[in-house]
Amino acid sequence: MTKTPITVARGDGIGPEIMDATLNILAAAGAQLDIEEIEIGKAVYERGVKNGIEDSAWDSLRRTKVFLKAPITTPQGGGFKSLNVTIRKSLSLYANVRPCVAYAPFVETSHPSMDIVIVRENEEDLYGGIEYRQSQDVMASLKIISRPGTERICRYAFEYARANGRKKVTCMTKDNIMKLSDGLFHRVFDEIGAEYPDIDKDHMIIDIGTAKVAAHPEIFDVIVTTNLYGDIISDVAAEVTGSVGLGGSSNIGLDFAMFEAVHGSAPDIAGKGIANPSGLLLGAVMMLVHIGQGKVAAAVHNAWLKTIEDGIHTGEIYREGQSKKRAGTDEFSKAVIERLGQTPKILKTVDYSKAPAGGIKLPPLKPRIEEKKERVGVDIGINWDGSAEDLANKVLACVNDNLDLQMISNRGTKVWPNGQPGTFCADNWRLRFLGRDGSTVKTSQVIALMERMNKADLNFTKSSMLSTYDGKPGFTVAQGE
Ligand code: NAD
Repeated sequence: MTKTPITVARGDGIGPEIMDATLNILAAAGAQLDIEEIEIGKAVYERGVKNGIEDSAWDSLRRTKVFLKAPITTPQGGGFKSLNVTIRKSLSLYANVRPCVAYAPFVETSHPSMDIVIVRENEEDLYGGIEYRQSQDVMASLKIISRPGTERICRYAFEYARANGRKKVTCMTKDNIMKLSDGLFHRVFDEIGAEYPDIDKDHMIIDIGTAKVAAHPEIFDVIVTTNLYGDIISDVAAEVTGSVGLGGSSNIGLDFAMFEAVHGSAPDIAGKGIANPSGLLLGAVMMLVHIGQGKVAAAVHNAWLKTIEDGIHTGEIYREGQSKKRAGTDEFSKAVIERLGQTPKILKTVDYSKAPAGGIKLPPLKPRIEEKKERVGVDIGINWDGSAEDLANKVLACVNDNLDLQMISNRGTKVWPNGQPGTFCADNWRLRFLGRDGSTVKTSQVIALMERMNKADLNFTKSSMLSTYDGKPGFTVAQGE
């Protein structure tokens, strides 16, 4: 078998220890890998590289297109950007796949039959990191959900379910509150799901969905959700299996793929030789399947299951009476190597012989159905320290014959006209102007309005054009409107 080039980063904290253990097991199992090593993370940040990765490392990634990455430490504050997010976004790794499986009775868990796969959208949502300080007192973060991004992740979830013999896909959103962004995610899930009659599908609001994952995980099969909810829910699910140290994950893109552990660099136990290498090892198993070395992947995974079954456990999953031996990282990896060729007796044996190399291939995106877009108004943000009434009076003196001031909101709640006297107002306000009698609005009319407001010393923070699409508003009403 020819060797597959892959890029490896040993990472920070427990990263080097668990990477050594993982690579030793892969080598002993006969994985055919041509390893290029890159340095990322803490040392690179400390050299002043704000995103924690040098240009030369990108060259390796572009060459191999397969990345096995140990966890890294993201410095807090100081303008440093999360390297994990940078890599996922730069390589368009749109799907983060996190299987969360219980290994009862060998690893303690209250949900022995849990076997969930979380498919998390990986590029959009609040992870765009588009944030503004809008005024002295108000910060804002922009949540981006796109139709192509959503179509891709939902289709990936259904294709994954089909390829892996899974029966149901559950979508989780908060579309009762975020009607446009999460509403789009839910709608596209329904549209794409209709193409998979062989797979059951349902939708849950994320708050009750998360509670159910924590209390009744056995009712789920595959879960697909947006970036932030997926981040939270997959840690909840991984912890419910017994330890966050057991979870591996893949980050799948159109041309690239990255494999890692779910957990972080665990600085509290770094250098002690006690970290559980299982998360990274199971990430590496997913990598072997992806590069077409399914036989080796199965050998490693089955040997690992047998090790867990034989009660050889790292400290964080060790339980007196249940576990047989408390193993350090090295000892655990040697135990896995000794069991290569064996299969578990009670836990389910895995078989990757039918998994296609290169992972799941998605069809092209559905053609876009053009909708008629009409500009109908504008929202203008203003810093203001007075009352809603005084602001309205000042603004009403600026309106012209095309645009009417329709309402003023503060922190999303309507405060003019007829606001509730008890509504607390911060120093950033949103003014909504709509074309008079439903007429369409020209950019020049908005600019003319803003010029008059500028002359009246109104202090702008932002503006957003308001449009309808096939007559449906592309904006939400304010709370209480
Ligand atoms: P963490 O996952 O590193 O640790 C949480 C807890 O789980 C700690 O008590 C730790 O000791 C334990 N733990 C984690 N992995 C373990 C393992 N393999 N074996 C045994 N115990 C394990 O989360 P954290 O402490 O919030 O974050 C530490 C650092 O990791 C931060 O800098 C964070 O930014 C980074 N991080 C990186 C990634 C990544 O690289 N993909 C992911 C999450 C966090």
